[in-house]
Amino acid sequence: MRKAIPLKLQKKVRARANEKCEYCLLHQSFGFLTFHIEHIVSLKHGGGNEFENLALACPHCNSNKGTDLATFLGSYQNIIPLFNPRLQNWKEHFQTENGEIIGLTPIGQATIKLLCVNEPDRLILRRILAEEGMYP
Ligand SMILES: [Zn+2]
Repeated sequence: MRKAIPLKLQKKVRARANEKCEYCLLHQSFGFLTFHIEHIVSLKHGGGNEFENLALACPHCNSNKGTDLATFLGSYQNIIPLFNPRLQNWKEHFQTENGEIIGLTPIGQATIKLLCVNEPDRLILRRILAEEGMYP
């Protein structure tokens, strides 16, 4: 049975992330909806509510990631794990250029693809914020 994430733990996750989505780096104050506490390894795959398995994610990143842990790049044989904000450093896998998120590694590229982080609506918002010095 699914156990709710205690509020105190949710607050700790938000504080660790500085209120930013740990995938696209959008700040909660620029999101229209409350950001989600996401299971990096979903419950379906055996993940739990431990602090080290939780991340803050905007609704776009969270809904696109779902329970996925990997995707393919190029051919179906080339399965690439998704970025794990607890085990990996964002700047090693991504960079931003005028609001656009660029994948520096296969992990970064796979994550960008699956989470659709550069969809036009999302990109427009981040470009406006970047021009104002509010992103990333
Ligand atoms: Zn996001």
